[in-house]
Amino acid sequence: MTNKDQHHKTALKIQNGIDQPASINPRFAKKGHKIGKLENAQWYIKKVLEGDRSALSKSITLVESSLPAHRVLAQEIIEACLPHSGHSVRIGITGVPGVGKSTFIEVFGRYITQQLQKKLAVLAIDPSSQRTKGSILGDKTRMEKLTNDDLAFIRPSPSAGSLGGVAQKTRESIILCEAAGYEIILVETVGVGQSETVVHSMVDFFLLLMLAGAGDELQGIKRGIMEMADALLINKADGNNKQKAELARREYANALHLFPPTESGWVPRTQTCSAQTGDGIQEVYEIIADYLKETKSSGYFNQKRKEQYLEVLHQNIRLRLLQNFQEDSKMKQSLIEMEGQIIDQEISAYKAVDLLLKTYFKNISVEKG
Ligand code: GDP
Repeated sequence: MTNKDQHHKTALKIQNGIDQPASINPRFAKKGHKIGKLENAQWYIKKVLEGDRSALSKSITLVESSLPAHRVLAQEIIEACLPHSGHSVRIGITGVPGVGKSTFIEVFGRYITQQLQKKLAVLAIDPSSQRTKGSILGDKTRMEKLTNDDLAFIRPSPSAGSLGGVAQKTRESIILCEAAGYEIILVETVGVGQSETVVHSMVDFFLLLMLAGAGDELQGIKRGIMEMADALLINKADGNNKQKAELARREYANALHLFPPTESGWVPRTQTCSAQTGDGIQEVYEIIADYLKETKSSGYFNQKRKEQYLEVLHQNIRLRLLQNFQEDSKMKQSLIEMEGQIIDQEISAYKAVDLLLKTYFKNISVEKG
């Protein structure tokens, strides 16, 4: 029986699907991030620790690369940077496209670099596509001032990939940015569903940007995402919209009271702001400062970070085991056969799992032996 016949027997059709569109604007992607001449790991490590932006950028490109030689180099750089990481404040920012995330990051970012004189890195998670207008540097007019700010380092989302893969790269990029001395890391995500949960699992503080609008108070933002937020910001509170924004803020504040208390004991805050006029921007920073003070003194801040590290461990074990199983050519074949038998009700799915895993682990021990 050919492979094709076996697929038919399973009654499962394999759709090739469409190519994943690039997550960054092709005009920008074309320029790409050049690694240039490959140096040894010590070169990157030394330069990154000195805060050299070009070396940081190249190291992140290595992290994002799928070439095995780049991966090995990247791993060595990350391991060396790890002891110098962890000292920043990691802030996640999400909200539907058009809510004003980039405008907000530009203004909030300038507040951080100009008023507070702190080094700021902006990373993005956008495993989707141009459907969501591409990621942060896709449009060159976005964050113009911040892009030219010596204290800011902006990096668009790695090119399209699985959410798990993109998230892993962002986690590693955070480590590199911290080792390079960046004190505040903003991780932007596009409000399209699962990416918020992933960003939430890698930041200390989670900010949800929203709009005031007649009747569309929930704007497709799922309740679960609202529950994750440490602060809700009603953006575009300017001009005629000011009153409406304040009204919406009160409604959200009331809605938040109905949610179960958070694990941290922190009561999520609501705030109106205008990324256009700058109103409310300083208050946002003050909310974050309050959060840090409260959760650091209660011990929750460190506890959450530790839990996040363990989550990375467990996630990667799951990811790698599954990958290894799925890429094993013998297992691929056995899986197809089992699928056929399950469909024909010759065997239960539970029994099939038992048999498949027995074969898988036996193969591994034979290979090792
Ligand atoms: P993103 O898709 O969430 O990154 O949103 P953008 O930052 O690109 O903003 C979408 C549009 O809203 C742009 O035309 C901005 O100029 C506008 N915008 C952003 N923030 C504000 C604000 O605070 N007030 C007003 N009136 N417009 C804003």
